[in-house]
Amino acid sequence: MKPMGPFPPEFARQRGALTIGGRDAEAWAAQAGDTPLFVYDMAIVAARVERFRAAFPAVDLHYAIKANPHPALLAAIAPLVDGLDIASAGELTKALAAKPAAAISFAGPGKRDGELTAAIQAGVTLNAESEGEVARALAIGERLGITPRLAVRVNPDAELRGSGMKMGGRPSPFGVDAERAGPLIRTIIAAGADWRGLHIYAGSQVLNAAALIEAQAATLALARRLADEAGSVPPLVNLGGGFGVPYFAGDVSLDIEAVGAALSNLLAGWDDTRFAIELGRWLVAEAGVYLTRVVDRKESRGETFLVVDGGLHHQLAATGNLGTVVRRNYPLALASWMGGDPDETVSVVGPLCTPLDRLGDQVGLPYAEVGDLIAVFLAGAYGATASPADFLGHPRAAELIAHRS
Ligand SMILES: *Cc1c(COP(=O)(O)O)cnc(C)c1O
Repeated sequence: MKPMGPFPPEFARQRGALTIGGRDAEAWAAQAGDTPLFVYDMAIVAARVERFRAAFPAVDLHYAIKANPHPALLAAIAPLVDGLDIASAGELTKALAAKPAAAISFAGPGKRDGELTAAIQAGVTLNAESEGEVARALAIGERLGITPRLAVRVNPDAELRGSGMKMGGRPSPFGVDAERAGPLIRTIIAAGADWRGLHIYAGSQVLNAAALIEAQAATLALARRLADEAGSVPPLVNLGGGFGVPYFAGDVSLDIEAVGAALSNLLAGWDDTRFAIELGRWLVAEAGVYLTRVVDRKESRGETFLVVDGGLHHQLAATGNLGTVVRRNYPLALASWMGGDPDETVSVVGPLCTPLDRLGDQVGLPYAEVGDLIAVFLAGAYGATASPADFLGHPRAAELIAHRS
C-alpha cells in the first residue's frame, strides 16, 4: 500500500457518507445527471479568505483566476477579494463580468496586440513582462488616446534566492530582469503612462513559512531599491503569492499566520504603498472534490484495479502529469464510507487508453463495487481547465457550486 496525501481539514473528520456543502455526494451526482463531476464548496473558500484577512490585515487579496475560472465560482469569490489577476484576453472577459476594471491586473508573457488593446480600453492594469511589451502598450495607448495603466513585473536577481526556493537570478520569460527594471519604470513615467507599481512573483506551492518570509523580505528590499532607482514610490507592490496546499503524504500546511506576522513588521515605513498578495490554489484547491464512479473492478496478476469513469482528461494533476517529477497520490476516498478502514489495496485508474491515467496508485480503500463513487480531493484548483478535456473524446465533467448557506 502506498500513502496518500492528507484530507483537507473540512473533510478529514467526516465519517460515513461524504457530504460537500452539507449535501451527500450522491445527491450532487444526481443533480449533475452523470458522473464525473466537480463540486466546489464556497464555504471553504470563504473560510480561507477569512483566515487570510486575519493574518494579513494590511494587505490586499487578489485571486489568480487561472487556478479555477469557473464562472459561478468566480462570481462567488469576486466580492470576497480585492482584485483579480488574469493572464489572457479570455480571462479578461471573465474577470470583467465579476469585478471592475480597476481591480484587475493582467500578467503573462506574450500578450498580443489585441489583448493589450482590450486591456487598455477596459482600464485594466498591465503587468508588463518586457521592454517590448511596454513599447507596444504605450503605442497602443497613444493610438487609442487612453493612458495605459502599467506595472512592471520584475524577475528578481540572485539575492532573492532563499531557503531552497528557486526564484530569480536566472533567465526567465517572466518579468524584466531586476537590473533593467529601474530604467524601464523611468521610461513608463516619462511617457506619461499611469505607473501602477511592481509585480514580483515568488513562485508556487510553497509550504515552508520560513522560505516565504525570507522571499518576501528580499522582495521588499528589491522594491525599495527599484523605487530609489526610479525616483518614484510604487503605488502598489504585488508580492506574488506562492502559498501552497498539502497534496501528498508528509506535506504540512503552510503557517500563514507566521508569514503574516513577519510581513507586517516589514511593511513599516511603506506608508504610500499598498501591498497585494495574489493567490490561486490556496484559496480554492481544498474546496473542490472530483467525484467519479467505478465502472469495472478487475484483477490482474495480483493487483486489483478500480476502473472509474473519470481520469486525467479532467484531473490531470491528480494523475501526476501536471508538473510533478515523481507520481504521488492525492487524497481519495470511497464516498459512501469516509473514515472507513482500508479493506484492500487498489489502483484507481481512468478510462483513457494510456497507462498515465491513474488517479490512485496502490491506495488503501474500503471495499468498493461497480457503481460506487470515488472522491478525489484537492480538486478545486488546476482541475477542469488544466486538463486535456478533448483527449479521447469523453464528455466534460459537470462543475457544481455549493453556495454558502
Ligand atoms: C499562476 C499564478 C498565480 C497563482 O499561483 P498559485 O500557485 O495557484 O497560487 C499567481 N500569480 C501569477 C503571476 C501566476 O502566474
